[in-house]
Amino acid sequence: MKKYLNFINGEWMESSSGRFIPVTNPANGDVLGEVTQSTKEDVDRAVQAAKTAQKSWRLVPAPERAEILYKVAHLLKERKEELSQILTSEMGKVIAEARGEVQEAIDMAYYMAGEGRRLFGDTVPSELRNKFAMSIRVPIGIAGLITPWNFPIAIASWKSLPALVAGNAVIWKPASETPAIAQEFVRIYEEAGLPKGLINLVNGSGSIVGNAMVDHLDIDLISFTGSNEVGKQINERAGVMLKRTSLEMGGKNAVTVLEDANLDLAVDGILWGAFGTSGQRCTATSRVIVHESVKEELERKLMERIGELKLGNGLDESVKVGPVINRSSLERINEYVKIGVNEGAKLLTGGNIVTENNLDKGNFYAPTIFTDVKADMRIAKEEIFGPVVSIIPVKSLEEAIEVNNSVEFGLSSAIFTADVNRAFQAMRDLDTGIVYVNAGTTGAEIHLPFGGTKGTGNGHRDSGVASLDVYTEWKSIYVDYSGKLQRAQIDNY
Ligand code: NAP
Ligand code: MG
Repeated sequence: MKKYLNFINGEWMESSSGRFIPVTNPANGDVLGEVTQSTKEDVDRAVQAAKTAQKSWRLVPAPERAEILYKVAHLLKERKEELSQILTSEMGKVIAEARGEVQEAIDMAYYMAGEGRRLFGDTVPSELRNKFAMSIRVPIGIAGLITPWNFPIAIASWKSLPALVAGNAVIWKPASETPAIAQEFVRIYEEAGLPKGLINLVNGSGSIVGNAMVDHLDIDLISFTGSNEVGKQINERAGVMLKRTSLEMGGKNAVTVLEDANLDLAVDGILWGAFGTSGQRCTATSRVIVHESVKEELERKLMERIGELKLGNGLDESVKVGPVINRSSLERINEYVKIGVNEGAKLLTGGNIVTENNLDKGNFYAPTIFTDVKADMRIAKEEIFGPVVSIIPVKSLEEAIEVNNSVEFGLSSAIFTADVNRAFQAMRDLDTGIVYVNAGTTGAEIHLPFGGTKGTGNGHRDSGVASLDVYTEWKSIYVDYSGKLQRAQIDNY
């Protein structure tokens, strides 16, 4: 039996708890291995190691830190196929998407390695003579990372790489469902020569390890991606300690299709956005807001194509939709479908757990489309996190924008239209952190900020240069070389 271990102070070890839990393949229920279940003491040990390591790391020139990140990038690239297979076996997304996810980590590693020679601050003129003024980024200390299973390596790369290049040490708790890919990622840091103690992997439950991290006085910030429920709890606990938190949470993303849209293109975007990763992306298309005059044609085209979505084990290259992560998720999705039916939405296709062709050993849900959905129904407002999409008819662009913005989340939105004026109006008025024009709601590139408005986040962003704001403090420095006391705002006015 494979054992997934902790990595603390440069050593692979199991928790002193002696407890392990099994890790299964969601496509067929096979047990892949077991993962150590850590305690608060393991977190303490990781913090001790991180503290010591960060003292020297912060003094290493950033371009030199970046050399290690370049090695991480090379190793990820070399091992891309192997990592993708592990990712698919462990969390279920189809292999083409797993390769895409590993590519995101590769891209992020090269990009953040480049930051080693940038990490730009500002030099600005002083208002006084013979005085120099600048602002620089400084590391914060120890970054605690808590990540979900749906993008287990991409999200970990969005957080760990900027944290490290900026001079912090990292303590990482991955999701309980995806310890194998986490272990491989940390091995790559190890092989790339990252000094011991700078990345520490602590496996275990959110309630024990996650809480211990949030509560630890020496962990200076928490960067979390996951559900709103947990994000709010983290914010509350961290808030009383004035601990910085970066929270990326749920979405209820919509594609708007106007009457002048290329409907075939819109169908491509909707199918990919709603059913890719079995609807378990934070940017998944969960609503389609369509102009009533093209609603029927859009539905007909969607129904013509829905049969292409072959379900199965994602390692099979012909499979288009893999399993959902676990049984309880499968049941939650099924509950939401029942809620939709009871609310009076019309089921166009799907709406059931799939058991034929031996798929009952895994967690498979049929791609599901509801139509005649009203914007205030629960299925149109709450995150389902499964392969379920709701079609909502509207009469105008203005109404579409209102519906798009009526949910508590604000991650991603998309609009299909051939009218440049209306596209720009939508870019301005769609209240989400990410907007796509003539493309679906998914497909973020790592050099742009990733995150959302309203209930999706707390104002921070992952990836892009914006992510450096999470892992650094600004320090403003004034150098007076006049040789006398110069009082700003006083002596010069
Ligand atoms: P989750 O239950 O919130 O778990 C996320 C992480 O938090 C896991 O590592 C989990 O550990 C940990 N955790 C659980 N309870 C905790 C606690 N009390 N204190 C500290 N940590 C705790 O989310 P999920 O169900 O795995 O992931 C799906 C959610 O993530 C969806 O809502 C999705 O929209 C969101 N998501 C958002 C983005 C984004 O960037 N906006 C990206 C991807 C996913 P365990 O695994 O041990 O429970
Ligand atoms: Mg969970």
